[in-house]
Amino acid sequence: ATGILAGKRGLILGLANNRSIAWGIASAARQAGAELAFTYQGDALKKRVEPLAEELGGIIVGHCDVTEPETIDAVFNDLEKRWGTIDFVIHCIAYADKDELTGRYVDTTEGNFTKSMLISCYSFTAIAQRAEKLMPNGGTLLTLTYFGAEKWMPHYNVMGVAKAALEASVRYMAADLGPKNIRVNAISAGPIKTLAASGIGDFRYILKWNEYNSPLRRSTTIEEVGETAAFFVSDMARGITGEILHVDSGYHVVGMKNPEAPDI
Ligand code: NAD
Repeated sequence: ATGILAGKRGLILGLANNRSIAWGIASAARQAGAELAFTYQGDALKKRVEPLAEELGGIIVGHCDVTEPETIDAVFNDLEKRWGTIDFVIHCIAYADKDELTGRYVDTTEGNFTKSMLISCYSFTAIAQRAEKLMPNGGTLLTLTYFGAEKWMPHYNVMGVAKAALEASVRYMAADLGPKNIRVNAISAGPIKTLAASGIGDFRYILKWNEYNSPLRRSTTIEEVGETAAFFVSDMARGITGEILHVDSGYHVVGMKNPEAPDI
């Protein structure tokens, strides 16, 4: 293969279907020459993930539910057996109870807070612990975040708090793993209509708002996020770690509504 990821092997977690950000990333990484491994969460998604992995000539390293640590271990044991080492891991996993992705953050229950934090934040750290062992000569870890970590957004609630913690964990792990030449970064993607996003209240409104008010006046696509991710895990980005890069049509610089934006 030729391309900026030729000769690199990477694991992508969080592929659900062909609308997933993980799919945009996998497609771009494959295009750039990477060899890929995938996990799926449960049998329902297995049926969807298998043909997608096959389309990209990738391998499946089994079921992974980050609330079951033994399944994370199994994935990395399998990878060690098959590949020995790994160059990159991309974490595209988040969860919060749909019932609390509406209304007020202040009403978040302890149970949902803990579960959202575990799946959407700690899982990246848990994965980094395993990945480090398979990166003796360095490597790179990437996760996905959202602007709701930095500013209040309607309905994003506990997920905004979890993403803020996730972004902080990127900085801490960048410092911890930097001496081993392991880079840790995040892409802050603009809103994209995926399975996970459909759980967020008034998502269509949020999508339109971003489209009308972002500098580029359009929605973010999984292809845009995918190509940026391919760059991030390539040697072209070898000087970058601890970074949160916005791929959001520039929305993060906007301080006020575009006066020319149509009503939604
Ligand atoms: P998606 O529904 O396609 O992917 C979410 C994935 O998380 C699924 O594959 C699901 O299986 C996985 N997941 C959830 N709980 C899990 C668990 N316990 N164990 C293992 N996997 C689990 O949606 P997406 O929008 O592509 O989400 C990918 C990432 O991008 C998430 O971190 C999300 O927060 C982030 N993100 C999304 C948007 C957006 O607007 N869609 C914007 C910014 C960031």
